[in-house]
Amino acid sequence: MSMYRKVLVAVDLSDESEQVLRAAAEIAAANEAEILILHVTDNPVTLYSQWSDYVVPYSEDKIRELLFSKLADLVESLGLNKSLITIDFGRAIDLIVDKADKEECDLIVVGSHGRHGVKLLLGSTANGVLHHASCDVLAIRVRETIE
Ligand code: AMP
Repeated sequence: MSMYRKVLVAVDLSDESEQVLRAAAEIAAANEAEILILHVTDNPVTLYSQWSDYVVPYSEDKIRELLFSKLADLVESLGLNKSLITIDFGRAIDLIVDKADKEECDLIVVGSHGRHGVKLLLGSTANGVLHHASCDVLAIRVRETIE
């Protein structure tokens, strides 16, 4: 019997994201569960064009497009479909928990640590999700990628 029907994996685009995504994909496959992939970026984010004399902030759509294509490469390299990706703007903990509630996910997969490093036993986002989620939360113990 499958334990989970719908898995939400939160990916922060750090070097360790592949480990988290790979583990979530394996869990989803083993449970014959659906998988959804979420990346949250700060709001507002302003990037500036390096090719212009003018200061041109990228639109929300442009930022979403850039992040989407970065994540799509990783997602497709693991044999998953890029249509499963959502890019949202706001506070990561809130949006991860909200998405899991709205989509009726029964498991959220996060990395034990992400871009905020390994100083805490459990990273701050992972910890926040664990405290606020209404479903199971699995923290994948990530190993730091040495470039
Ligand atoms: P942290 O608590 O920031 O060290 O990150 C731990 C884990 O939380 C990461 O491995 C991701 O699974 C998730 N996470 C952190 N920030 C984000 C984000 N902006 N978008 C999606 N997931 C995130």
